[in-house]
Amino acid sequence: MNPAGKGHTIDVYCAHCRTLLYHYYKAGPGHLVKCYIDRILKDYTDGSLECPSCGQQFVRDVMVRGRPAKKIVQGKVIVRG
Ligand SMILES: [Zn+2]
Repeated sequence: MNPAGKGHTIDVYCAHCRTLLYHYYKAGPGHLVKCYIDRILKDYTDGSLECPSCGQQFVRDVMVRGRPAKKIVQGKVIVRG
């Protein structure tokens, strides 16, 4: 976490079928590696690890310094915003 960093909202899509998965508040710059649960502004998958449209798994559940997060499976999502 970088409290001084500029945050912004992004949209995360399935790379396979382009279904919108998350509306997410990203705190810092750089490649999206994980999504903290408490920063997912809208979860279109209803907590699933798989795309609700095509069934492809795009994240896995992890803990990052005690905070639950979704770790992105690289190549499975597209980020815009
Ligand atoms: Zn999909």
